[in-house]
Amino acid sequence: MKEQINAYNNVLELIGNTPLIKLNKVTENLKGNFYAKVEAFNPGHSTKDRIALYIIEEAERQGILTPGDTIIETTSGNTGFSIAMVSIIKGYNCILAVSSKSSKDKIDMLRTMGAKVYVCPAHVSADDERSYYNVAKRLHEETKGSVYINQYFNQLNIDAHYKTTGPEIWEQTKGQITHLVACSGTGGTISGAAKFLKEQNPNIRILGVDAFGSVLKKYHETKEFDNDEIYPYRIEGLGKNLIPTATDFDVIDQFMKVTDEESAHTARELAKTEGLFVGYTSGAAFQAVKQFAQENEFNENSNVVVVFPDHGSRYMSKIFSDDWMNEQGFFDSVNIEETQKIEF
Ligand code: PMP
Repeated sequence: MKEQINAYNNVLELIGNTPLIKLNKVTENLKGNFYAKVEAFNPGHSTKDRIALYIIEEAERQGILTPGDTIIETTSGNTGFSIAMVSIIKGYNCILAVSSKSSKDKIDMLRTMGAKVYVCPAHVSADDERSYYNVAKRLHEETKGSVYINQYFNQLNIDAHYKTTGPEIWEQTKGQITHLVACSGTGGTISGAAKFLKEQNPNIRILGVDAFGSVLKKYHETKEFDNDEIYPYRIEGLGKNLIPTATDFDVIDQFMKVTDEESAHTARELAKTEGLFVGYTSGAAFQAVKQFAQENEFNENSNVVVVFPDHGSRYMSKIFSDDWMNEQGFFDSVNIEETQKIEF
């Protein structure tokens, strides 16, 4: 009998089981051990592969989706890419309503993956008929045989991370994790992973990362929705101008807000010091780690896992472009010596 060829049946079999990678140089001045859960190792280069596969397979199990149907979603890009990838393999049409804040690279990539893309204005309120939420809703109503993933308000988003990300982190750290640091957009990653981890050990500290210009931190602390917290910012995929039901605020111990500028520099620093070419929110997540460290959150015995949601290649025309950094004024406050150190 011939030997079995050693190959995956399709790209979807590579989703999940991403590596945990120790951070060494960038943590030199911090107390504790720091490990990155590097979600760029998913085949779609982000953590969103997990929810796309999980939600679509759940819809198939329930008989809601059959091949030839259409999947609709709002997305800053990553979820769209993952849904498009899963749709190709499983034989679905894919329609995406995306924010005009998304990089051109991301939009081109979605179209390359066969998705029909509608670009919607970023700086309108969520209830405006032009917002990507309402565009997606309308498309869902108008398209026969369509399913709206609705990741911000879908419990399955949390479940995907409860079933995969959380158990992987617990197993990889052999139960020795003391802190989880994760960005909150839909809240699916932090809520699902945290729920699983707190069930294993309720003492694990769950630290969320939010953006200046977003309502999440204030809502977590006061349970009040404060419109004054909302203003435009540059980081894509982190923070929100509404309260997603896919965020379980009760499992999160504390939020930290980070700036566009410091997050961009920290993402560049991760590439330079650790050889980890990860995205803007990975920079934001590690920037939050630095700020939590300043507040004495960690000690020598801490085992901190920080989730890096996606790959740096998606931000070539943004944070990894010196021209873009200059245009934002992000080099203004950095002295020449420092600039040379982080220059590419
Ligand atoms: N980083 C990036 C780049 C993202 O696209 C997202 C998702 N919006 C997040 C972080 C936040 O993940 P979650 O939606 O699971 O909270």
